[in-house]
Amino acid sequence: MLHNPMRFAHFIDNETVPADGGESLPVVDPSTGAVFAQIARGTAGDIDRAVAAARAAYRGPWGRLSATERGRLLRRWADAVEAHADELAQLESQDTGKPLKQARADAIALARYFEFYAGAADKLHGQTIPYQDGYTVLTIREPHGVTGHIVPWNYPMQIFGRSVGAALAAGNACVVKPAEDACLSLLRAASLAASVGLPAGALNIVTGLGPEAGQALAEHPGIDHISFTGSTETGKRVAIAAAQHHCPVTLELGGKSPQLVFADADVDAALPVLVNAIIQNCGQTCSAGSRVLVERAIYEPLLDRLAERFAALRAGPASMDLDLGPLVNRKQQQRVWDFLSDAQAGGVPLMAQGEIVEDAPAEGFYQAPVLLRDVPASHRLWQDEVFGPVLAVQVFDDEDEALALANGTAYGLVAGVWTRDGGRQMRFARRLHSGQVFVNNYGAGGGVELPFGGVKASGYGREKGFEALYGFTTLKTVAIRHG
Ligand code: NAD
Repeated sequence: MLHNPMRFAHFIDNETVPADGGESLPVVDPSTGAVFAQIARGTAGDIDRAVAAARAAYRGPWGRLSATERGRLLRRWADAVEAHADELAQLESQDTGKPLKQARADAIALARYFEFYAGAADKLHGQTIPYQDGYTVLTIREPHGVTGHIVPWNYPMQIFGRSVGAALAAGNACVVKPAEDACLSLLRAASLAASVGLPAGALNIVTGLGPEAGQALAEHPGIDHISFTGSTETGKRVAIAAAQHHCPVTLELGGKSPQLVFADADVDAALPVLVNAIIQNCGQTCSAGSRVLVERAIYEPLLDRLAERFAALRAGPASMDLDLGPLVNRKQQQRVWDFLSDAQAGGVPLMAQGEIVEDAPAEGFYQAPVLLRDVPASHRLWQDEVFGPVLAVQVFDDEDEALALANGTAYGLVAGVWTRDGGRQMRFARRLHSGQVFVNNYGAGGGVELPFGGVKASGYGREKGFEALYGFTTLKTVAIRHG
């Protein structure tokens, strides 16, 4: 059997494989704080084995498939994921604490990534380039070979889907290191890939700790490209390790994404989006809209309406499917508490907060959503990623001030602007320094088809959409002199 409800092994060469060192790690349910499963604690030996399996697949049956055949396999995998969406959602919801409806949406997004990249697989091609007389010059897009994928715990299925879907469509063989806090849905999704005929070794998953299995993957000389999503600090570490063996890296890191609301905005349309952009996944979203900037003329009324909504929000166990589930673990809960005590110490006014339902288990990692107003631009709550349901709001007087505040952090992942003025929409689309800009909406990272990634401390390279396929290939130029 490929999947055991209590003990989970690595997935290598389409087989379940116990940890090289024989050790396991406990898996905690964030809703209750109780251990409910064990995963294999991966070592450098397990990574070696997975890389060897991927290399053999790349040189063998997987590497020989045509792009159309790769697309068909991804399509079948998409169908299998969709058929098992409830089971996958249940696993991920218990593993991460996200409400079931969010986990189900993530399972459907996983299927959608495979569907999108299935269709794109045989549409990726090179060019012919006009050159000197007597030459024909063409470019060929080739897979890197064996790609490494380091996945965080906040959206395991979505991030796995966008990264592995594109890498496989482009013809790479993959080795995945999921986060120690959230890997169960990915192990199950991998067993579904095997069941629809993905050749052995094309996809391998090694579970374990970041500094052990993750670091071993980043350092491995047999890895030809790494896609990393997670914190800025770890991303730097991964890029440095990869540089030692000349391995290209895509980094999708954190954010402190602003939404700007001008006095002429459709506030009724903006309000639910402003709230959802920070409470979705309990604020543990790299593209969370964690800062809101409001033009002075509507500052107080908008704050009042935000406060009313925040006060009505409820956090509770994932299975209750409320507005928010718990945070992922105790460490993340402590991190949010530290930010909030800094806010209190700095005299940042608390405008409103939601509630944790009474029957939420005391050992769960709950955090009520918090609305803070007049947050100074110098405060760490304005500058740093909390990764929790904490919204920082500030006022502005004109476009220049709004832009300076919006661009004035180390990050640049996503930004939103709410205004009915067409000229202003374009000015901000151009001048906001971020990888995505939403006008009169806020995608919160959604949109399988839309290239996604950051500037500055938010990372480099693009995932999602067709653009990701360029990142998972390398370009060869062939110049033929034929006279
Ligand atoms: P992290 O960056 O440490 O972990 C992300 C992934 O990297 C996990 O799979 C982890 O096992 C792996 N990893 C950790 N150390 C590694 C190493 N030395 N070499 C290779 N891989 C390694 O994130 P975290 O500690 O789980 O969370 C800390 C903070 O990161 C959060 O509070 C949040 O600010 C941020 N974060 C951002 C995202 C995002 O999507 N941008 C996702 C998760 C966490």
